[in-house]
Amino acid sequence: MVMVVMMMLKSNARPRSRPSSILSAAAAAAYCTTAGSSAAAAEADRTIRDGPRNNWTREQINSVYHSPILDLLFHGAQVHRHAHNFREVQQCTLLSIKTGGCSEDCSYCPQSSRYNTGVKPQKLMTKDAVIQAAQKAKEAGSTRFCMGAAWRETVGRKTNFNQILDYVKEIRGMGMEVCCTLGMIEKQQALELKKAGLTAYNHNLDTSREYYPNIITTRSYDERLETLQFVRDAGINVCSGGIIGLGEAEEDRVGLLHTLATLPTHPESVPINALVAVKGTPLQDQKVLTVTVYILGSVYFG
Ligand code: SF4
Repeated sequence: MVMVVMMMLKSNARPRSRPSSILSAAAAAAYCTTAGSSAAAAEADRTIRDGPRNNWTREQINSVYHSPILDLLFHGAQVHRHAHNFREVQQCTLLSIKTGGCSEDCSYCPQSSRYNTGVKPQKLMTKDAVIQAAQKAKEAGSTRFCMGAAWRETVGRKTNFNQILDYVKEIRGMGMEVCCTLGMIEKQQALELKKAGLTAYNHNLDTSREYYPNIITTRSYDERLETLQFVRDAGINVCSGGIIGLGEAEEDRVGLLHTLATLPTHPESVPINALVAVKGTPLQDQKVLTVTVYILGSVYFG
């Protein structure tokens, strides 16, 4: 399923250096199995035959990434159809239940209190308001309701966290799947969310380990991976992806995919976002991506 995500990442990322581009091209050529057969074609055949794997090398991911775009599109779609009913799309509604005033320094985010973006910090929404929004989402056809809070972490926010557990229970009781994105969580909190009925937890890695310090300094890559592990261990589905258009190189996109594809269990959901540059954030001048092929929404690893 790596290929399906690759299709979304192919765009105008800058090469970090010329020599690495040449090496990438050489690696891609070396990975072709037969004349005219790309790494995308070879990996699609293997995935359909043997199922997903977690032992990818970065070079293999790089080779698939550099397969011709139409090969990625065709073979990625084949793998997707093999694992999923291609006529099915899940409609989800995302609500920001606590907006702004975040202590983190994610350089793309208008909700950080460090940047002057005009976003006013708000308190956690009341139960009535959240449940009303979930009901409206359900009536509009959504089968999953996602709640996002602009926090570094939930540790030390017992009252708010207990409120959110209550929201999760209530919305599950309405027959909807529930997802949360609340920043970093600890083992105990993951277990409590699971007990409340949480379906999935979103925590994105954003970019490659190497490029990450250019984007965020207030929490580490390993802390993010630790949260994903707590979520996985608690039996909650993992939703984790990244953002393109942060000024990263192609090898950073390959690096992000490599990290996700070599997790002990693949995330059930891999959201690939494109940066919307917001005035007042450090990335305000980033150019809009001219994406060759971009599929909106989440892509599921089979
Ligand atoms: S942790 Fe989330 S809300 Fe806070 S600055 Fe980063 S992206 Fe924004």
